[in-house]
Amino acid sequence: MILIICCICGQKCSYLETFEGAPHNLMSVYNTNYLELRDLDIYHCYSCGHTQIPTYLSEEYYQDYSMGSYWGSSFKRVRQQQISRLVSLLSKRERFLDIGCGVGHYLELAQEHFNELYGVEPSARSAIIAAQKGFNIIQDYFHEGLKFDAGFDAISMIEVLEHLEQPSALFELAAQSLNEDGILIVEVPNGQRIMSERLYYNLCTDHIQYFSVSSLATMAQRAGLSIICVQASPDPNLLELYARKRSRPSVTFGNKRESTRDYLVSRIPNGSRVAAWGAGAESSSFLAMLEGILIIDCIFDSNNEKDGQHIAGIPIVIPTREAVSQYDIVILFANSHKEQITSQLYALNFQGQLLAVGN
Ligand SMILES: [Zn+2]
Repeated sequence: MILIICCICGQKCSYLETFEGAPHNLMSVYNTNYLELRDLDIYHCYSCGHTQIPTYLSEEYYQDYSMGSYWGSSFKRVRQQQISRLVSLLSKRERFLDIGCGVGHYLELAQEHFNELYGVEPSARSAIIAAQKGFNIIQDYFHEGLKFDAGFDAISMIEVLEHLEQPSALFELAAQSLNEDGILIVEVPNGQRIMSERLYYNLCTDHIQYFSVSSLATMAQRAGLSIICVQASPDPNLLELYARKRSRPSVTFGNKRESTRDYLVSRIPNGSRVAAWGAGAESSSFLAMLEGILIIDCIFDSNNEKDGQHIAGIPIVIPTREAVSQYDIVILFANSHKEQITSQLYALNFQGQLLAVGN
């Protein structure tokens, strides 16, 4: 047996069986008097649950492809639900792209929600029909050479990835074309169901990838997207994935620390007598942050076991009426019990100011 590597996760696949006599080139079954058949070697990845058939169709095959160009009402309903969900997940709905848009059905469903609608479609016949509907259509495969003015807020790939030899490559490219916070929606045949129920009549050479929930999730994670949902759609023959391109956080840890330090410096007049509250694990970090900027005389903590110990030379003491009365300001370090400590301090008749940081 040849070595087959999983095109989703890169692990070694296991040979399952050779299925004899599967339909080949589905487009060719129409208007001919015979069925073209092939034997399919089926490989499964036990790591991510993906199944693949190491065969492929020539690029020209899809030049005149029209499978799936008719949508019955139940398919339409499933996809209307997808669009509704997609719309509910988006904060911005400017630019939408459908990869493998066919004659433009999905774009028609999306058009009331987006301002600019784009489609990419290799089949010339389908691309012309979609363009006649007024959408921005590129007749081509989706590849790195395609240039768009800007990224997209949403990208769909409906019944596309199961046809490709390297679905992850297309998926990654689509993920790169998303704007930050944009959503990618994918629909594929439910390969997991085909495998578990051995639905032999769903095997054909048009479909060389049979996705599972976990292989779809793996593909999204490896492309750096965060998964919103992977599930069987209301039609159990389909799987759908919703994933988001996360924006980079605008604040760094360093920024956050700096602003906390600035806040304290601005609130503490020179010459103030300052104590801190809380000798927990975070205190070291806060003390390091304040070193050379503020002098902290002691750290209050109610834990008797810490009494008499110190952090970085600063003594930990049990808060008493007499002890707290010596301070103008108490800084409360990263403590979620702010209310409790506030009342504790004032029960000790603390007259100064309490400054909470880190929450
Ligand atoms: Zn795998």
